[in-house]
Amino acid sequence: FNVPAPINEPVLAYAPGSKERELLQAALKSAYQNQLDIPMYIGAQEIRTGNLKPLTPPHNHKHILGHFHQGDASHVKLAIDAALAAKAEWENLAWEHRAAIFLKAADLIAGPYRNELLAATMAGQSKNAYQAEIDAACELIDFLRFNVKYMTEIYSQQPPVSPSGVWNRVEQRPLEGFIFALTPFNFTAIAGNLPTSAAMMGNVIVWKPANTQIYSAQVLMKVFKEAGLPDGVINLIYVSGPVAGDVIFDHADFAGIHFTGSTGVFQDIWKTIGTNIHKYKTYPRIVGETGGKDFILVHQSANAKAAATAIVRGAFEYQGQKCSAASRVYIAASLWPEIKDSILADLATIKTGPVEDFTNFVNAVINEASFDLLADAIEKARNNESTEIIAGGKYDKSAGYFIEPTIIVTKDPKYATMTQELFGPVLTVYIYEDDAFAETLELVDQTSVYALTGAVMATDAYAIQQASVALRNAAGNFYINDKCTGAVVGQQPFGGARASGTNDKAGSMINLLRWVSPRTIKESF
Ligand code: GLU
Repeated sequence: FNVPAPINEPVLAYAPGSKERELLQAALKSAYQNQLDIPMYIGAQEIRTGNLKPLTPPHNHKHILGHFHQGDASHVKLAIDAALAAKAEWENLAWEHRAAIFLKAADLIAGPYRNELLAATMAGQSKNAYQAEIDAACELIDFLRFNVKYMTEIYSQQPPVSPSGVWNRVEQRPLEGFIFALTPFNFTAIAGNLPTSAAMMGNVIVWKPANTQIYSAQVLMKVFKEAGLPDGVINLIYVSGPVAGDVIFDHADFAGIHFTGSTGVFQDIWKTIGTNIHKYKTYPRIVGETGGKDFILVHQSANAKAAATAIVRGAFEYQGQKCSAASRVYIAASLWPEIKDSILADLATIKTGPVEDFTNFVNAVINEASFDLLADAIEKARNNESTEIIAGGKYDKSAGYFIEPTIIVTKDPKYATMTQELFGPVLTVYIYEDDAFAETLELVDQTSVYALTGAVMATDAYAIQQASVALRNAAGNFYINDKCTGAVVGQQPFGGARASGTNDKAGSMINLLRWVSPRTIKESF
């Protein structure tokens, strides 16, 4: 059994007047009208606790999309029990049958569920149609199909040598226990990938999404069920982080965590696991993608127009709320006037507003806490003598959490917003003298604790080589003459080291191998 290499899911354009745009707009309209009542999914049950919490679009926070049923510690226990009850049957199912379920899920998303999932991502997470398409449709479909391919490769690996009279083999066992998937708001694809990549390898999962992603998480859960995923293999719960953590990290059968979220939360989880290590049957797998402070470095030899485009798209697509978003930029002084003009010209054409108007490039940031953090950073920059705000700087939360794409230019390369992760449409620029490229490389490397993505823009081959070597550890995804966002599954496996995560490359065999525990078998005849 082997599956052919998939091709990346083509990106639909939703062009004005097209049938696909009409259908997506209809789905979005019903997303606003449905008034969903979203249960938790534990084992075969849909659980409605009656403890209702509202879901609102970040770009229109007075509108209620529907409610979800919040659970408590008892539901975390139920979810673990349901996962463990489903384990034996799931892990003994031949892997090609597990593969078929995830391939079918990919087809359901590509076809009948595409519009519903996109609409949920647009309404719930404030993504415009294009950003929702490349995330909730294309990237997620790619994760499922490519991971199935990597899975077949893992199960088809060459066996070790066997002398005559002996059969040596390696069995890729699922982990002993359950996996906790803790998923973020910013990518529906990541929310789908974290539980499914571990489940594919025969594991059972307790899945807790970010509250701000529950709408699209519920659509995913319906897809998994319709694709034939047995009850209990993935259990979806809505419980506060500390309540879930208390039960999960105290459980003897806790076997691993698949995480995307903040560095602070991940480090706290790691410490808790360390403290409780004696309680577990097995050393848990800790796999996480955390923060970023991603850079674009522009050499004096760069094409100014290409650099400006990379900066605008890298910094402001999805309001800068990608872990990979460019948030600190270093520009050679001789190119700055041209790049600045080009960026300002681009920004003049960019509209900020709700997702229903497909011409809005920038939508709202995810919630009030994020809005307040960004507004505060903008005000501090406005009042600091080493900084100047050259674009944007306006914000308004009266109807939705809108922050204009903002550019701060600083004379201080270690200024707060050059180091601190803001996760929003606020970019900081530092201008360096053309002949200080070597020193700037060191600055780029040393300024941040993170190392997720980064880009160098240059046409000079020697400068590219210098940057590649000097910044070897500064980014897990390094781009030469491109923006630092938009990794494509199957093309650029994604993840970073340092404070950005364990670098177990989402969408790769490396990641899937974290979810198995090999057994070596020697059989003598
Ligand atoms: N894979 C995404 C990209 O390359 C970013 C993922 C994230 O934000 O966690 O833009």
